[in-house]
Amino acid sequence: MVDALIRFVREQYRTEGFIPLHAPVFCGREREYVNDTIDSTFVSSVGAYVDRFERDMAAYTGSPRAVATVNGTAALHAALLLAGVKQGELVITQPLTFVATCNAIAYIGAQPLFIDVDRNTLGLSAIAMREWLSEHAQISDDGLCRTKSDGIIIRACVPMHTFGHPADLDGLVAVCSEWNISMVEDAAESLGSFYHGRHTGTFGLMGTLSFNGNKVMTTGGGGMILADEKFGAHAKHLTTTAKKTHPYEFVHDELGFNYRMPNLNAALGCAQLESLEEFIKAKRVLADRYAEYLKGGELQFVSEPDGCRSNYWLNAVICENQKQRDILLSATNEQGVMTRPIWALMTRLPMYAACRKGNISNSQWLEERVVNLPSSVLPEFLE
Ligand SMILES: *Cc1c(COP(=O)(O)O)cnc(C)c1O
Repeated sequence: MVDALIRFVREQYRTEGFIPLHAPVFCGREREYVNDTIDSTFVSSVGAYVDRFERDMAAYTGSPRAVATVNGTAALHAALLLAGVKQGELVITQPLTFVATCNAIAYIGAQPLFIDVDRNTLGLSAIAMREWLSEHAQISDDGLCRTKSDGIIIRACVPMHTFGHPADLDGLVAVCSEWNISMVEDAAESLGSFYHGRHTGTFGLMGTLSFNGNKVMTTGGGGMILADEKFGAHAKHLTTTAKKTHPYEFVHDELGFNYRMPNLNAALGCAQLESLEEFIKAKRVLADRYAEYLKGGELQFVSEPDGCRSNYWLNAVICENQKQRDILLSATNEQGVMTRPIWALMTRLPMYAACRKGNISNSQWLEERVVNLPSSVLPEFLE
């Protein structure tokens, strides 16, 4: 089974050499734009490409505002601060995510509260969230959602769109509104993924993107906050040291952050964004081929949820059990075809082991079984 899969992957990438999980592609105007920043000397924290990248990304996602940041973790940290999360409060998220989701919560001194994922989306489960809240939370007189046992505020919720597959956003929006919980989407993996025609990251109070080197498009390092006009303006202020606009004076009116994206990186981003739809087209062709090839076999391919267009950032399969997963991982990696298991659950990491959690059986089930397959843009799209 594994040898045939390896042969299949090699045919797609037309190579007997090493095949990475996800390699960036620079086939557009990247060099031209980056050189332009050098020629202009505007490589750093101000420049025309930052403004243009924010405008272009707002247009692409349909978000009223888009604020570029130095990376996706910083974007999420700032967005959670803007959403009013404070030290000692709880923020609901999923145990099956990349550690940055939880780190952004912990930077504020807040604590993640782990709720299970759905097996079909791999994202936060609205049903599990409603169940947990019904049993353990109540709305207090001030209108806030608090734990019944000790009155701790549950301020926000951070669903993550795993591998680019949109979570159950209608369900999550509904349960957040019932319980007066602000939703901030970690859309780091889902640039180009749409839920019922609307871009992920635009359903909550704010959403955040990442342009790290392994994501669907890259700025080297970078991130973005998607928000409405009001939060967008505040996000820009907070991430640019909270400096009041003035021709020459330095006055800062709150504790700000130097989280801005350099113009050099934004130039790369402007060029990458011009190719994004091409990348996604190629990735969806590859996903179709994986799905077709694996149909009826032992490995279950993870397909986009109904009503969604996924960017298929990383293709994933669900193995029958952990033993089969380990055989798949060792054989592919030994033979130069890179595959990876899904993340260890956040509840296992020493920093988050003591955090509150609900029943996380789906997350545990997936943790033992999910493997990512090579997902870079196919060579035939680069000719
Ligand atoms: C990549 C990623 C981030 C942010 O990563 P940065 O490297 O800080 O840009 C956040 N959350 C998830 C789920 C991610 O995959």
